[in-house]
Amino acid sequence: MNTVQEDKLWQTVLGDIEISLSRANYLTWFKNTHLIDRVGDHIVIGVPNVFIKQQLERKYNQLILDTIQKNGVSIDSIDFKIQSVSRAEIDEKAELQVESIATQHVPQMLSSERPKNASSLAHTYRQGINERYTFDNFVVGSGNELAYAACQAVANEVGTKYNPLFLYGGVGIGKTHLIQAVGNAVVSRNPQARVVYISSEQFVQEFVDALRFKKNTDFADYYRSADVLIVDDVQFFAGKEKIQEEFFHTFNALHQANHQIIISSDKPPREIPTLEERLRSRFVWGMSIDMQNPDFETRCAIIQNKAAVKQINLPSDVVDFLSTQFQTNIRELEGALNQLLAFCEMRGLEPNLAIVTGLLGGRAARPKHLSAHQIIERCAKYYQIELDDILGAKRDKDIVVPRQVAMYLLRSELHLSFPKIAHELGRKDHTTAIHSVDKIEKEFNLNPTIRAAVNEIKEHLYA
Ligand code: ADP
Ligand code: MG
Repeated sequence: MNTVQEDKLWQTVLGDIEISLSRANYLTWFKNTHLIDRVGDHIVIGVPNVFIKQQLERKYNQLILDTIQKNGVSIDSIDFKIQSVSRAEIDEKAELQVESIATQHVPQMLSSERPKNASSLAHTYRQGINERYTFDNFVVGSGNELAYAACQAVANEVGTKYNPLFLYGGVGIGKTHLIQAVGNAVVSRNPQARVVYISSEQFVQEFVDALRFKKNTDFADYYRSADVLIVDDVQFFAGKEKIQEEFFHTFNALHQANHQIIISSDKPPREIPTLEERLRSRFVWGMSIDMQNPDFETRCAIIQNKAAVKQINLPSDVVDFLSTQFQTNIRELEGALNQLLAFCEMRGLEPNLAIVTGLLGGRAARPKHLSAHQIIERCAKYYQIELDDILGAKRDKDIVVPRQVAMYLLRSELHLSFPKIAHELGRKDHTTAIHSVDKIEKEFNLNPTIRAAVNEIKEHLYA
């Protein structure tokens, strides 16, 4: 067959499919597919793992067939074969990309004129990038797709696209993974690039050491000579004036030279307490992105992907169970999966629902022990208002919001009916409950303050 033409056909098909699906679905299921073979009416598509294979077979087979036929090619059956793109092809593509990137965007990055003292110091500092965190093994879905796209854009146009890039969101939702993926992508294209990843706590520690050992100039030179500086969990700078001042100068030096700065935090800049105004304003110069909890389907996809890497095929009820139990923190979700897989491996068992319920049953059973009263009490406590007020008739904003959050949690955690929710909060009319639950549900996705409140209250409830 004429591979170039066949490849073109598949690219055209992908182009059409991309338009007809959500971006998240397209990236998750189709991004790493390629055409392996076409014989008569039959084609073979290469896919990266068993999970994607199953999804494409079950959900997308017809769409692919229709799209191919729409392009005037008669194909009536498809086989999906697990096969990643060969190393040689990746290397070849990467080389081409390096060439174009090096000439277009980052000539200044490649400068060999590093401050001499900085390189001698480098061994005492960490580059800190973990190769495990890549774009390829990040599952894209609602909640993280914007952050994913922005990180890719930054990796492709270092220093010029969004600078700084500021990602914020709750614990365990993939911030570190994504910002490190940028670092890995940049280094893989240009091994010379000086990518420095550091948590803000390490930055503080090194700064303190530098002051103590009178190496402040080395410290400053080192960070100011980075091509890409990634600072994780910047909320720890709060209240530390000297550090903020140092970071302010580092920031300016890098920014002026069009070197990339990437920052993560658990809150948006305006909500980091005691962050100096001048830093705050700089943090929002480029692009700030709010990362949200992945939805149920994305969580399922993450579990399936992680299992597929270990060549384990999980029954769908196990996947559903895990995704239902761990809604906000992917690190915990991953931990539970690892616990399950280790348990099964040691005993030579296939993972199934009974095992996972047995193992994590304590967690699963917890919501049942939770009472409506506990939820309402927790909300009042979180917002520092009296229980009588939340149950009472007052309509001040300070009281209405906690009441709405309580209604939302009664629904999400206990699945109470709306009339029952209204009753629990001393209300006669259940339309208020419907409206409140709906409002907080929406706000949860849009308003980081509400999301943080809901998550924190939940954490206390289940602690
Ligand atoms: P954060 O920095 O936001 O607290 P991490 O980046 O450390 O969270 O993510 C926690 C764990 O969950 C990591 O092991 C990460 O690889 C994994 N993870 C989070 N989101 C995804 C995703 N969308 N796809 C694959 N793995 C993910
Ligand atoms: Mg992190």
